[in-house]
Amino acid sequence: MDVTAAVVRQAGGPFAIETLALEAIRPDEVLVRIVGTGLCHTDLVVRDQVLPTPLPAVLGHEGAGVVEAVGERVSGLAPGDHVVLGFAACRDCAQCRAGHPSYCEHFAALNFGGCRADGSKCLHDGSSQISSHFFGQSSFATHAVLAAHNAVKVAKDVPLALLGPLGCGIMTGAGTVFHALDLHEGESLLVIGGGPVGLSAVMAARVRGAARIVLADPVASRREAALDLGASDVIDVAGGDLAQQVKQILPEGVSCVLDSSGVVQAIEGGVAALAPRGRLAMVGVPRSLDAAISLNIVQMLSRGLKVCGVTEGDADPQIFLPQLIDLYRQGRFPFDRLIATYPLDRINEAVTDQHAGRCVKVVLIMPE
Ligand SMILES: [Zn+2]
Ligand SMILES: [Zn+2]
Repeated sequence: MDVTAAVVRQAGGPFAIETLALEAIRPDEVLVRIVGTGLCHTDLVVRDQVLPTPLPAVLGHEGAGVVEAVGERVSGLAPGDHVVLGFAACRDCAQCRAGHPSYCEHFAALNFGGCRADGSKCLHDGSSQISSHFFGQSSFATHAVLAAHNAVKVAKDVPLALLGPLGCGIMTGAGTVFHALDLHEGESLLVIGGGPVGLSAVMAARVRGAARIVLADPVASRREAALDLGASDVIDVAGGDLAQQVKQILPEGVSCVLDSSGVVQAIEGGVAALAPRGRLAMVGVPRSLDAAISLNIVQMLSRGLKVCGVTEGDADPQIFLPQLIDLYRQGRFPFDRLIATYPLDRINEAVTDQHAGRCVKVVLIMPE
């Protein structure tokens, strides 16, 4: 079948709207008509080839849509079901079986390889193959073919077009607070970076009953958004040393830090802001694959600090997305307030607007 897709042909972009041919599904796959798909920082990191999915490629990894066809070996999904597309995991390795699919041994190949596990691609432009299955889905397109176990069936009483970001950016922020940091009631959280990941962390910290939620970002509109969503305090990172600013608010330091910036200086400032037995989670992808932080060993052991990296909130989308949707229904996780919608053919304008801070989270709406 023919699909309309946003294609990246050279490092740095732009996205070009093209008609491509999509292969038929295999026995363990489903065909999903994409309704909306989020635009995530990782799409742009790959567009710029910091992470090298082979080009040309259809990116997009926060898709939500309607199942149109299921392969003969698929159970639990049927045409008409509403689904959110999670990241790809094999569901068979030790990490997957232990309930940590974001650390799947095949994560890099399955999510960034631009193909299925066997190396095949399902998109063509008539003369050559186009990388598909980005994060198992390549959802900057009107339709996607994906492994059935990466589709999460969701209820039909919630706005399907807006649900896609739950599968990556929002899950990353909220999952890190719930799982990796395991923030407890009465603790404090510093969030570095007020993009969709950071603001999702603010909402999750509120759900957990945090005593103080501090958001640090250089952009005033993002600091205001954080206050609207439940942050108790905000810091302008341009206003001086991060740790000193945190200690003006929390003199003994902060219980937990979530860094969504990937900026070395900010992460080191976050470590310096921790209270004894504090923990810091790094979730932001740095601009260089060689980026490294330095930790003072005596400070680490004498203060009992923990620093970890987290992918996709250490969440299993099949379990976590229904939980987030329940919190949304209860009015405790209003992620829809982060979202601005753009039609797919305005994707380049959406990238510019998101980068400039004119919107927090873009969801691209597919043409009918
Ligand atoms: Zn696995
Ligand atoms: Zn993402």
